[in-house]
Amino acid sequence: MMNKKLKAAVLGAVLAMSTTLAFADAKNPKIGFSIDDMRIERWVRDRDYFNAEAEKLGAKVFVQSADASEQRQIAQIENLISRGVDVLVIVPFNATVLNNAVREAKKAKIKVVSYDRLILNADIDAYISFDNTKVGELQAQALTALKPKGNYYLLGGSPTDNNAKMLREGQLKVLQPLVDKGDIKVVGKQWVKDWSAAEAMSIVENALTANGNKIDAIVASNDGTAGGAIQALTSQKLAGKVPVSGQDADLAAVKRVIGGTQAMTVYKPLKLIAAEAARLSVQLVRNEKPAFNASYDNGFKKVDTLLLKPIPLTKANVNLLVDDGFYTKAQLTAN
Ligand code: BGC
Repeated sequence: MMNKKLKAAVLGAVLAMSTTLAFADAKNPKIGFSIDDMRIERWVRDRDYFNAEAEKLGAKVFVQSADASEQRQIAQIENLISRGVDVLVIVPFNATVLNNAVREAKKAKIKVVSYDRLILNADIDAYISFDNTKVGELQAQALTALKPKGNYYLLGGSPTDNNAKMLREGQLKVLQPLVDKGDIKVVGKQWVKDWSAAEAMSIVENALTANGNKIDAIVASNDGTAGGAIQALTSQKLAGKVPVSGQDADLAAVKRVIGGTQAMTVYKPLKLIAAEAARLSVQLVRNEKPAFNASYDNGFKKVDTLLLKPIPLTKANVNLLVDDGFYTKAQLTAN
């Protein structure tokens, strides 16, 4: 039998341990940030802005990049779970394969936030993104303003990324009425594996050949794939003649916009999404209610969502990036 004194001491120790644990979690939460692919420019910025805000909030962040491998991402998430994070923030490579990993997290009382891309069929706590359908609309609107008639090619994003589908939906919202009117013909469409620029280039090379170079506009879903498309156009001396859309305001793309080979990009203030996501994650750990402004059905439930506003960017308003501190003037003018 344990004597009274020992019993009291053990009880005291257990109580102290559990209160420090609970207290430490809320005060200095541990965040696991699982990013699909940090080889793509924007995600490095997302990480940096996220870390900066999380640090201000007293949180510690563990970051992992899966480099476009679903197995690697699952293993990394499992590793973050076993490290005892309080919340997981995930940019999924493949929207449809994370339900087991999310279930494991929830079993361990870890909150799960879907960052930029929606995780499907899983019990996630929140979703934060820019309005992707709107991004698609902005891309198509910019191109139809320049080419109201003609042959359009649709260069989609990665087939494993739910955003790719939402972008396409937005693009077609604008294009379909013009197709129905007979002004526009969609001469081809493809998804681009892993959002790869090299893949985008070869798809557009083939599309140009198949259509005897008669393509009037290319709806590229992001700047990386736009870069590939423009390389293919350059080989046919068509760069600058065939408008190409994009998204992300990658440095190379903004330079192409200034130089006239890319018609537009979509600026998504990454500092905003990263900072909001860090705040939201910490609030979830602290059992506070974050402010949401939308709800998305991910096949499992209606997910509380925070949707941010994307901004279309052409040569005319490119200085916005300097005003916003996204780039310096010197970065935009350097060769
Ligand atoms: C993001 C884009 C990004 C693309 C490739 C999409 O889910 O919304 O900003 O360019 O993934 O990483």
